[in-house]
Amino acid sequence: MVEYSELIFEVSRPGRVGASLPASDVEKVDLQELLPKHLIRQDAAELPEVSELQLVRHYTALSNKNHGVDNGFYPLGSCTMKYNPKINEDVARFDGFSRIHPYQPVETVQGALRLLYELQEELAVITGMDAVTLQPSAGAQGEWTGLMMVKAYHEQKGEKRTKVLVPDSAHGTNPASATVAGFKTVTIPSNKDGLVDLEELKKHVDGDTAALMLTNPNTLGLFEKEILDIAKIVHEAGGLLYYDGANANAILGKTTPGKMGFDIVHLNLHKTFTTPHGGGGPGAGPVGVKKKLIPFLPVPRVDKDGDRYVLDTNQPLSIGRVKGYYGNFGILVRAYTYIRTMGPEGLRQVSESAVLHANYLRKKLEPYFEAPYSQVCKHEFVLSGSKQKKLGVRTLDMAKRLLDFGYHPPTIYFPLNVEECLMIEPTETESKETLDAFADVMIQIAKEVEENPGVVLEAPHTTVIGRLDEVQAARQPILRYKKEERKETVKS
Ligand SMILES: *Cc1c(COP(=O)(O)O)cnc(C)c1O
Repeated sequence: MVEYSELIFEVSRPGRVGASLPASDVEKVDLQELLPKHLIRQDAAELPEVSELQLVRHYTALSNKNHGVDNGFYPLGSCTMKYNPKINEDVARFDGFSRIHPYQPVETVQGALRLLYELQEELAVITGMDAVTLQPSAGAQGEWTGLMMVKAYHEQKGEKRTKVLVPDSAHGTNPASATVAGFKTVTIPSNKDGLVDLEELKKHVDGDTAALMLTNPNTLGLFEKEILDIAKIVHEAGGLLYYDGANANAILGKTTPGKMGFDIVHLNLHKTFTTPHGGGGPGAGPVGVKKKLIPFLPVPRVDKDGDRYVLDTNQPLSIGRVKGYYGNFGILVRAYTYIRTMGPEGLRQVSESAVLHANYLRKKLEPYFEAPYSQVCKHEFVLSGSKQKKLGVRTLDMAKRLLDFGYHPPTIYFPLNVEECLMIEPTETESKETLDAFADVMIQIAKEVEENPGVVLEAPHTTVIGRLDEVQAARQPILRYKKEERKETVKS
């Protein structure tokens, strides 16, 4: 059977429409006068002509094929696919937030500015920083913004430092952001416990070191216990410490990057602070800094003058604007709502539950999979599929098999320093029943690998599409509808 969602072009009939627009009440303009001829479309776009009901069925069919946290467990390590509370959506839809315009005079949007200001303040407390910008709209853009401030800070002191140190367990965006910001990245190997090797660090830190980028707990879910020594080594050489706080689910209300000695932090509101992500919405990667970096923050800064909220652009040392207007405002409203509904005690509980859930699952799964680091973990943990690989089944196969049970697989093959890696982050919002059911399925898959590997190697068995040719999908993606190509894909 061909899925309904693939038929949208086939059910198209000339003249059929799905929307009834009111008659236009503005004067018709002559496009020929407004635009150069080569920019004017000569023939109408070939769009499907369908009724409203057909359109609704098309998009509903597509959404039913999607896996999201609203329809199943999603233990994607490092990505924090936690529940997005619906009250966030209610508040984001308030007229005073959703029907305002960025060019409105600031006197008419004082409530929106107050929300931004208070969110900055809340995030400063949560991170232990002195000031926050909400402009960056992704974790990676937050990293880049932070590194541009690092650069401006050193240049202001008359120093041109060229190196950024990054541990081998770091998220791939860290070296990428450092490179885009014009730095040379130097990889610091982890020791056998999965932590930064201090001796290696000392070897690479020198007067050319602009910053060290670190995640703590790191991407193996392990806490860098020697963080104060690490901070001291970098600071003594005149470098800065950058905290990748994309995933802060283990530290809320427990500790702060500020206390650990960091100078700059970015957070992903679309991970820790429950705003939708993964195709579900735009992101937000606010950046917090210690006092000495405040002059370099992006403009405009949302500030308070007496009891008025203002947009301050008069900051001569600022790195400038990094995003149109003031960040992804609707997302900032959602994160603010989450923080205010949870309160400090609620946020502390989030971290305690996230860490408890991760350790509970880790203990249940460790007898069945290789556990390269078996100390107590924080909000996530890694296993290795190396035992199963010896039997001819790879981590990728086990991930595909999980799809048959309605689970999104964990992150696989990351971090890079663990062979056949499975990285699991259950998050605090899941019930014990869900964790138990997931553990049972993982254990069943481990048994299948020993007794009936074929069923794992041929998985998934229940999805609309089985295994993709990932190379062809990446090299020759089909990005738009063409009748001939559709026939081919449906056949195969
Ligand atoms: C997700 C993530 C990032 C990147 O965030 P984006 O919003 O995807 O750009 C960086 N570091 C870590 C540890 C992450 O988990």
